[in-house]
Amino acid sequence: MSKYWSPIVSRLTPYTPGEQPKLSKLVKLNTNENPYGPSPLALAAIAREVGDSLRLYPNPDAEPLKLAIAEYHAQHGITPAHVFVGNGSDEVLAHAFQALLQHDAPILFPDITYSFYPTYCSLYQVAYRTIPLAADFTLRVDDYLTAGANGGIIFPNPNAPTGCLLPLAEVERLAAAQPDSVVIVDEAYVDFGGDSAIPLVARYPNLLVVQTLSKSRSLAGLRVGFAIGQPDLITALERVKNSFNSYPLDRMAIVGATASIQDQAHFEQTRQAVIASRNTLVAGLQALGFEVLPSAANFVFARHPRHDAAQLAATLRSDGIIVRHFSSERIAQFLRITVGTDAACHTLLDALRIHLQ
Ligand code: PMP
Repeated sequence: MSKYWSPIVSRLTPYTPGEQPKLSKLVKLNTNENPYGPSPLALAAIAREVGDSLRLYPNPDAEPLKLAIAEYHAQHGITPAHVFVGNGSDEVLAHAFQALLQHDAPILFPDITYSFYPTYCSLYQVAYRTIPLAADFTLRVDDYLTAGANGGIIFPNPNAPTGCLLPLAEVERLAAAQPDSVVIVDEAYVDFGGDSAIPLVARYPNLLVVQTLSKSRSLAGLRVGFAIGQPDLITALERVKNSFNSYPLDRMAIVGATASIQDQAHFEQTRQAVIASRNTLVAGLQALGFEVLPSAANFVFARHPRHDAAQLAATLRSDGIIVRHFSSERIAQFLRITVGTDAACHTLLDALRIHLQ
C-alpha cells in the first residue's frame, strides 16, 4: 500500500489466476485449457498476418470477426450489431460490469462462482449480494426471483468451478421475470454440454450472453471473447470500450478468431473428444471413490470422502500433475480437474490410485 494509490486501488482484492508453470513436462490440468490445438485454419490465418501489415492499426471494430460470429448464429436473428468482441471474455465481462451493472441496487450472483465477479465489483464499486447454491450445488432460479430488487444478475452457465448446468428453460424464466434489469450469462464452458442462451436474445432485450474462444476453440493464448445481446446493450459495451481501448483485438487475433469460428469440423471433432475424455475421467474418479458433480464443462469438480483435497493436490503436484484447489470453506474438500487428453486423464488416475491405497 502507498500514499500514491487511489482509495479504490488500496481496497482492491485482485483475482488470483491459476498457475502457469515454467516446466513444460507437467501434466497441466489446472486452468481448463483445451488439450487439442486450435484450428489449423486459424493458425494459418495468423501466420499469414505476421508481416508488414502489423505496421498498421487493426480494424477498430474487428468487423470480420463480428461478421463471422453473426453468421454462425444467423438462424437466431443475430447480426453484427448484436455482437461485441473483446480481449478475452474477462475483458468483455469487465466492460459489462461497468456498462450494465453499475446501478444503485446490488447485483446478484451465486456464492460459489467465478471469482472474478467480486473483483470487478470492487474495481467498479458495484454493490453485490451472493445467493447460496442449493445443497447439491445447483442454482435455484426462485432464490433470485425472491431476492428483491437488483441491479442485474450474472452467473456462469455451466457454473465454475462446479461445472453444473442450469437448463435453458430456467435461464429463460430468470430473464423473463425481471425485464428491468440485465441478466448476464457467462457461457465460457457451454460448448461442452450446455444449451446456449443465444437463441433467447431476440426475445429478451435484457439478456447478454458472453462466450470465449479460450476453451472450446482452444485459443486461450489469443485472448478473444465476445458478447451477444440486443443492439441497445451492445452499444453500451462499445461506449465503454471506446472510452478505454479502441483497439482491443490485434490483427492476429481478428484473423485467427475469424478462421476458428469458420472451422466447424475442427470445433466439433475436438469438442466431442473432450466430452469423451470427460466420461473416462468421471468413471475413473468414481471407481476410486470420488464423488463427482455432474459436469457440462471441460473440467470436473470432485471430492473424496476420506482424503484431504489440499493434500491430494500437493501430492499430485510432486508427481508433476497440477490440478486446482480452492481454499474457500464450502469447496475446500474439492479438486477442480481439467479434462485433458485420454492419456493425461489416465496419468492422473494412475497417480491417484497409488496415493489413495
Ligand atoms: N468466465 C469463466 C466462468 C471462466 O472460468 C473464465 C476462465 N478463467 C472466463 C470467463 C475468462 O476466460 P477468457 O478471458 O480466457 O475468455
